[in-house]
Amino acid sequence: MKMLYNILVMEKIAEKTVQITFCGGTGSVTGANFLLEVDGKKILVDCGLTQGVKLADDVNWEPFPYDPKTIDILFITHGHVDHLGRIPKLIKEGFRGKIYSTEPTLGLALPMLEDTAEILGKNTDLGLDKIYSEENIKIALSLWQGFKYHENLKITENVTVNFLNAGHILGSAMVEFVYNGKKILFTGDLGNSPSPILPDTEIVTNADYLVMESVYGDRNHESRDDRRRLLAETIQDNHRRKGTLVIPTFSLERSQELLFELDGLVTNDRIPVMPIFFDSPLAIRLTEVFKQYTNYLNENAQKMISPGKYLFDFPGLHNTLKSEESKMIGNVPNPKIVIAGSGMSTGGRVVHHEKHYLPDPNNTILLTGYQSIGTPGRLIQEGLKMVYITGDEVAIRAHIVTISGYSGHKDSDGLLNFVEAMQDKVKKIFVVMGEPKSSMFLAQKLKDNLGLEAYVPNHGDSVSLVC
Ligand SMILES: [Zn+2]
Repeated sequence: MKMLYNILVMEKIAEKTVQITFCGGTGSVTGANFLLEVDGKKILVDCGLTQGVKLADDVNWEPFPYDPKTIDILFITHGHVDHLGRIPKLIKEGFRGKIYSTEPTLGLALPMLEDTAEILGKNTDLGLDKIYSEENIKIALSLWQGFKYHENLKITENVTVNFLNAGHILGSAMVEFVYNGKKILFTGDLGNSPSPILPDTEIVTNADYLVMESVYGDRNHESRDDRRRLLAETIQDNHRRKGTLVIPTFSLERSQELLFELDGLVTNDRIPVMPIFFDSPLAIRLTEVFKQYTNYLNENAQKMISPGKYLFDFPGLHNTLKSEESKMIGNVPNPKIVIAGSGMSTGGRVVHHEKHYLPDPNNTILLTGYQSIGTPGRLIQEGLKMVYITGDEVAIRAHIVTISGYSGHKDSDGLLNFVEAMQDKVKKIFVVMGEPKSSMFLAQKLKDNLGLEAYVPNHGDSVSLVC
């Protein structure tokens, strides 16, 4: 009898234990991949590429630390490839569970995966053509379902899940698991609210356990109020010098934000009308998804739409879809603006523009996004006089301007404020998705300023949470 009682007690305890394994996104901003074992289910949150200098580090092709065939559900927080880019590998290795995300994330997933496949699928040496195949992407999409924020999904008898607005990119979500009345929250990436086009990050007051990002854990951005003024001034200065302003930018979100800001500046006569080339086929395609989900944009952006006035369209703007059109940009007289990817100048059309425009002191390179260590973008930002871009030596004489106020991530104070709202409730915080010093700094700050239990897990660590 006593033994049976013990077994029952043990079962009771086992039932209430939740395990999280940090399979990716530790010691690095990228490669988010967390395994949550709850109520007999194996769940993944994000399955992203680890990125640095390259679109994908070699570490991505190592085996997953779990058997993909045994995973029941994969939740995707948002459409960036460092959160979803490894899905084709998961499919290739037998994952056939469900994929859940918000509706816009599902809309963004296809162009993002196809773009990734176009680049990585060429690598036959590592067999990436077998991973990034049309077929694997098709299977992934067939398993995928999109939901609205706060739809309250019941995934087991005892577990419900909600997507909360993270304010980071279109459709970005925090994923909240509720089990035995306890809440476990995965932040994904948290937006630098207020964004020009997105609603603010939701305030969460009642999470028990938190797995949070820390990209800017150790740094603060300059005031957001200044960003539009700095953008206008940079454009005016470049216009006076009759130069070309090159803006290397991420195709997803930053591009659309910039278009929205430029639209406002042109419409309100804050900058002169001049040719503005939106020179990224991927960004053009993604902008169509934004137009489809305008109900996910903030009130201010929705107000800009009126009969005859479309979002992301204004005088002077040219979408250059074809590469022949892109090549013609060099023949267009200055002053002009070129927006092109990739955001860290590691590839894409921007590298041709940089090779062409960096050596001339009349031109400007404007950096508005995070630049990873070792990328040409980071070296340009750090003020080097020469840089190698796709193997070619390029002299840097152009003006280099950084506006960090457009960052898509909360800064150190923003992250602290986010946690402060739940400080009476939250029991443990796991700080991930940051360079090590950034994560450590934020964890220390959470301990010192808020007196909370904060940890920086290592790759492969598992923790048991009592729920
Ligand atoms: Zn992101």
